[in-house]
Amino acid sequence: MTMNADPLAALIGQEHAVSRLNAIAHDPPQSIVIEGGDADARVALALYWAMRLNCASGSIPCGQCPACRQIGDLVFNDLLFFDGREGVIKIGTIRDQRGTWGQPPNGDGFRVSIFAEAQMFKTEAANALLKSLEEPRPGNVFVLAAPQRERLLETLVSRSWVITMGWPDVRRNEPEITEWTTALANFWRTGRGWFERTSPKGAVDKNLAMQVVLGMQRELREALSGTCGTPLSSGLVQMYDLRGLRRIDLVLEQAQDALNTSVPVNPAMVLDWVATRMT
Ligand SMILES: [Zn+2]
Repeated sequence: MTMNADPLAALIGQEHAVSRLNAIAHDPPQSIVIEGGDADARVALALYWAMRLNCASGSIPCGQCPACRQIGDLVFNDLLFFDGREGVIKIGTIRDQRGTWGQPPNGDGFRVSIFAEAQMFKTEAANALLKSLEEPRPGNVFVLAAPQRERLLETLVSRSWVITMGWPDVRRNEPEITEWTTALANFWRTGRGWFERTSPKGAVDKNLAMQVVLGMQRELREALSGTCGTPLSSGLVQMYDLRGLRRIDLVLEQAQDALNTSVPVNPAMVLDWVATRMT
């Protein structure tokens, strides 16, 4: 991973999530889930939490003491950092640490185990972690960071304190992409006007499909944040309740995963899959 000079730089604009963590720092829950934001912001918030629980100041991280600096560099001896951005998190990885988790931390603070992009857990690995969470581990706390809680094992989430970060800034979509995203939302409302766009041979390449998915996510995040500055985002709010909007987000994340794999996929089929998930 590339480290910023300031490991917490991605927290700008996330004061709400930071203050929620500060509010629970006097009695840290054994496990927290961090959702929302983007991957960098989630990692930064997880590192903030590790600093908050280990800083020599005993309070808001100073950023200067050995604990703060070592956590920022991922070399602190009471920090375990598992990076789902580098691939699936396997059961062996979890088993290897169970002995460590049975021990109190080395220092005076807490041992913080961070799982970045924890949706990359294999099911068996997630279940193995669940076992660790079910046994009290004094001085050990866990952080599961993922785009949204629905992508994690439900039993893990139900044992965790959930912190939701603000969604990233919404940029406007290009007119060509807006045409597609509007057509998609219209299809969800009316069941019409979609397949004639995707079915002509060569109508959708992988790049376009990804742009449509990202464009839809932008509109959706605007809808989720309640600002609704575009006809489409306000339309989405009228069509779906919060659960529905979160379900769309999940579908779009899965489509993104499908388009990102090295396995050849038919991009038009991925878009059709997205379209038919929400009708
Ligand atoms: Zn410090």
